[in-house]
Amino acid sequence: MTSPIMPVYNPAPVTPVRGEGVWLEEADGTRWLDCISGVATNALGHCHPALVEALTRQAGKLWHTSNAIRVPGQIELAERLVAHSFADRVFFSNTGTEAVECAIKTARRYHKVNGQPERFEVIGFTGSFHGRTYGAINASGNPAYLDGFGPPLPGFLHLAMDDHEAFAEAVARPGMAAVIVEPVQGEGGARAFSGEDLLRLRQLCTRHGVLLIHDEVQSGMGRTGKLFAHQWFEGCAPDIMAVAKALGSGFPVGACLATEEASKGMVVGTHGSTFGGNPLGMAVALAAFDVIASEETLANARTVSDYLRSRLQAVAERNPDMIVELRGKGMLVGLKLKPNNREFLMKGWEQHILLSGCGDNCVRILPPLILTEAEADEIVRRVEATCAAMRVQLAAVA
Ligand code: PMP
Repeated sequence: MTSPIMPVYNPAPVTPVRGEGVWLEEADGTRWLDCISGVATNALGHCHPALVEALTRQAGKLWHTSNAIRVPGQIELAERLVAHSFADRVFFSNTGTEAVECAIKTARRYHKVNGQPERFEVIGFTGSFHGRTYGAINASGNPAYLDGFGPPLPGFLHLAMDDHEAFAEAVARPGMAAVIVEPVQGEGGARAFSGEDLLRLRQLCTRHGVLLIHDEVQSGMGRTGKLFAHQWFEGCAPDIMAVAKALGSGFPVGACLATEEASKGMVVGTHGSTFGGNPLGMAVALAAFDVIASEETLANARTVSDYLRSRLQAVAERNPDMIVELRGKGMLVGLKLKPNNREFLMKGWEQHILLSGCGDNCVRILPPLILTEAEADEIVRRVEATCAAMRVQLAAVA
């Protein structure tokens, strides 16, 4: 029978009926070690008690109202985000791509209200991913996302992160509005940019009056062991930031954060969303925020990701025919592979480990921030077993 689902995905043949922490369970009791975590979304694992409690409590009170009236929880969550970041203002969306749209619109409106509507160009970076809406695919640094969807939108250009000269020239052009960057690229291949790279962008943007947008949809909310990835480095804070995924930790919530100055063009009527920031989303995101932003959770993410990384590094050294290098930052772990990454992650299914594919022939390991060392050991054991099984498969074909 053909599936009624539009075939844009290629899902693993796993149908979980429940989840707990880093584990997923099928109806017959088969357990899977989930290193996809809803693509870096379930920061507190599956069915964290604080989130279950917040969701069920709110479900009996109020689900949805629209932004035509004041929504309970929005101000509280916005206050927390502001208190823990560079930002003064927050717009709530449902998804990461919507948060990115809002970020780009905010940047362009800023120049418009400054009397410079001709400043609308946005610089993005090769290998970046910002989402699937029209604005976001045009901002993303991979032409494959644009294929077949009409002409590219005007006002976007892409540069390689290491092409310093081209960046210095482009950012100084009169039409330039904003620069958008993921401090750690996720989908493009788990590439962590250095503090030096991020500082250079910050300084050149400031010099030329160009707004800096960080896309922390994947790298934010604790994934790297700090609440936001750019907070690892001094003086790198953006003017605008897109956040989603772990913000709702499984409930669809996104946010665009901005300074008061950068957001000054976003006045009544310039933007909106029916569902963005609804009461159910706010209740879950508030509960998630308090756990994720706690020093205990962030410290665990740092300690256990260091442990996981050092053990995976040893796996890479023992299996140089399989793993080229270990990448990423904190709990955003990338393995650049020699064999095809899709074949490798399918081999992982035999070990009941779910890995996430991404660009540059990598797989990502994206465990919840609450991972224990014993669970990290289990990931390492299954990744190494996958290397061995992959070697056997390749030898049989050769
Ligand atoms: N930006 C980044 C950096 C992402 O990783 C993603 C999703 N993988 C998005 C934007 C888009 O988020 P969403 O799928 O929630 O629209």
